[in-house]
Amino acid sequence: MCLYGELAINRKYTDNKKNGGNIPPILDIRTKYVPISCGKCIECKRAKARDWQIRLTEEIKSNNTKGYFVTLTFSDESIYKIINSKPTKNWPGLKNIEGYSLDNGIATRAVRLFLENWRKKYNTSLRHWLATELGHEGTENIHLHGIIWTNENFEEIRNTWHYGYVYPRPHELEKNYVSERTINYIIKYINKTDEDHPNYDSIILASHKPGIGLNYINTYNGKLNKFKGANTKETYTTSNGREVPLPIYYKNKLYTDEQKEQLWLIKLDKNERYIMGEKVINDEEGKQLHRTLEYYRKINKELGYGNNEKDWNKIQYENARRKLLYETRLKNASPAGQLNMGTDKDGRGKTHKATQNRPKKNINKIAKEITGRNLSDMIGI
Ligand SMILES: [Zn+2]
Repeated sequence: MCLYGELAINRKYTDNKKNGGNIPPILDIRTKYVPISCGKCIECKRAKARDWQIRLTEEIKSNNTKGYFVTLTFSDESIYKIINSKPTKNWPGLKNIEGYSLDNGIATRAVRLFLENWRKKYNTSLRHWLATELGHEGTENIHLHGIIWTNENFEEIRNTWHYGYVYPRPHELEKNYVSERTINYIIKYINKTDEDHPNYDSIILASHKPGIGLNYINTYNGKLNKFKGANTKETYTTSNGREVPLPIYYKNKLYTDEQKEQLWLIKLDKNERYIMGEKVINDEEGKQLHRTLEYYRKINKELGYGNNEKDWNKIQYENARRKLLYETRLKNASPAGQLNMGTDKDGRGKTHKATQNRPKKNINKIAKEITGRNLSDMIGI
């Protein structure tokens, strides 16, 4: 369970669009509140990684198309173009977006256009699962890691991604097929912490209709998860026989809202929780649970995972830092300025042959260059 979970009013029992003001009666007062997870602590991150690992494993089992591990990067020029492109009917544009939202906005826009181009060319949608990540050197560029399923030649991915470089390089291709065994490789991008950008939330851009791994609910094992009241099997059996929590995506497909509520009440009746794999039987005052949570919160902090407290100073600092990195990139790419085509070809911000002799600038130097002030002075910390 989330180390920083909170209870929030269950929207089902409030006046909302779905019920049009017809609020249903509360049959059990305990359903008035629902637990909300922080999404940042080690338990939340692990749960997210585990859910995707299971869904991707199931996808590979049922998908006969070839799957490739890919990394998609962005060139300064395409970043410049995307940021400066005019809004459309379905896309508000990125003019007033900054900080990490800009990174995720750029990735989301580029992936959408990439998929649209693919559909136009091949008359079929491209099955994909892509996670965003920020680089750790140089300009710390946004890029995507993930899987693309297609029986077309890999070169076609390269030809359709117009925004930067596509890895693997041609000679590395044969090592890059996806299998159940190699799926862990991609999961690490969700599970790890990012010391350089602690407030950055990576996003997953993935196929839906059908969602990744949906076929599981039609399989023998998936049918064992059907709702049976107190006897419902709410676990997923891994290939080596371990029982792990069933991904939320499958719960939402298998159970109605009422059934989920019932399952939640059954859990509350049992009064037991799992924290970091440890079963905690709650005593009446909740002391045991509290002690265990405190213990793991400390570990959570030491390992660099986040929580639901917002450190505004830090967020502001990272935001300002990000803005400056973008100004550098855009300056490089601006048609009026020095078009720097030879550098930064891989888009991950790593130093390449063309740039190796250039001294690495640190962020304070960049700040001073652009604004004439120190970064720390600018944001008042
Ligand atoms: Zn959490």
